[in-house]
Amino acid sequence: MYIKCKGYCFICNCPLEPYVKTDNKEKRELIRKYKKIKPIFLINNETYLKFFKLKVKRVCYSCFKTCSTPSQEVLRSREIGKIKTINRNLSLSRKEVFLWYIGLYKYVNKHFHNRPIVVYNDI
Ligand SMILES: [Zn+2]
Repeated sequence: MYIKCKGYCFICNCPLEPYVKTDNKEKRELIRKYKKIKPIFLINNETYLKFFKLKVKRVCYSCFKTCSTPSQEVLRSREIGKIKTINRNLSLSRKEVFLWYIGLYKYVNKHFHNRPIVVYNDI
């Protein structure tokens, strides 16, 4: 059982579309159960493509929606304290996804009974 992602966001360096893979059917069912017990909100971690001048980079949905190059008027008004622009990133970081995965790993190890029997037949 392991966790992987399809890349990292160009702006905030968050994992894009993380997923868990296993080779066992029982573990897969346990993962589905754990997702119902402790759900993880990954809609903001979906992959989107965004132009940076002439190059296309992969970014998360949160950065795609919120992060944009500020104009000079916005920068000027922010400097004098006219507006407060706080770009809050809503996508989950590597640490948050990994903490969720640690919880999943503990849950699967606790409830997994049907361990495969290794038989050595070298005849
Ligand atoms: Zn991002």
